[in-house]
Amino acid sequence: QQDRPGDPLTALLDQVRLRLRDLDDGEPASYIPELGRVDPDLFGLSLCALDGQVYASGDTTTPFTVQSVSKPFVFALALADHGLENVLARVGAEPSGEAFNSIRLEPVTGRPPNPMVNAGAIVTSSLVAGDGPDERSARILEGLSAFAGRPLKVDEAVFASERATGDRNRALAYLMHNAGSLTGDVEEQLAVYFRQCSVLVTCEDLAVMHATLAGGGVNPVTGDRVVAPRHAQHVLAVMATCGMYDASGQWMLQVGMPAKSGVSGAIGVALPGQFGIGVFSPPLEEKGNSVRGIAACHLISDQFGLHLMRAT
Ligand code: GLU
Repeated sequence: QQDRPGDPLTALLDQVRLRLRDLDDGEPASYIPELGRVDPDLFGLSLCALDGQVYASGDTTTPFTVQSVSKPFVFALALADHGLENVLARVGAEPSGEAFNSIRLEPVTGRPPNPMVNAGAIVTSSLVAGDGPDERSARILEGLSAFAGRPLKVDEAVFASERATGDRNRALAYLMHNAGSLTGDVEEQLAVYFRQCSVLVTCEDLAVMHATLAGGGVNPVTGDRVVAPRHAQHVLAVMATCGMYDASGQWMLQVGMPAKSGVSGAIGVALPGQFGIGVFSPPLEEKGNSVRGIAACHLISDQFGLHLMRAT
């Protein structure tokens, strides 16, 4: 993994970052006390091409917790362990049109709407193979590390903070347990989910992780196959329709690439067959997406004509 100062792609990332650096709308998330302590001026932008080259601008090696950007990757691991049909029996694939912590479950099946909202992600993390919560957490950490191409670690302070303040997720999990879409010991399942949200990554990691999805499941830096091509495709499809909380429609309209955002201010973007992008900037708009992150991806998409629905 190497930065390439002086080349045109790095110059473009620099340009986008400098143009947006002074945008000061939004606030960092504070519902988890640890997240509110971040420097709001941090701003990094990375791109990993499918030849494994990583381009970087700004604060791209600063660690932050992955939060909801873990969700596509844990969905991928659940797919690898059980296949699409079995996973779909427990979690849907429809945009919820509601916030990340939406409390709505499907009326008949009791399934959460999709794996990108908290309820669905609690289910997919419970589906990752392993004997008990410690083994499952270990497989998730190993899996996220394989996507990133380096060993990742958990931020124990954020994990403790998530667990101590996670009553809404706890309520969701008990509702799903009652509905039959979440099985097993609820507190144990929640601990696995809170740990996955607390994994530390950098902007460059996010670029490589999303390049792995964009490349059909092969990490372009290590050359390792992490998931099967069809599972990478399933994940990108759900990211495209559900990845940006209840701003997913607007995002698809304007940016037009599969993406996932998280409350730490991270956005990961995967353009199939092309590249992965990682953006990190903590202040969020009202729906929970990074303000500078959205603006940066919008600019990059426009400048290069990257919208997936573009015909010419
Ligand atoms: N840890 C967060 C939660 O479940 C993740 C939320 C997010 O990034 O959207 O509350």
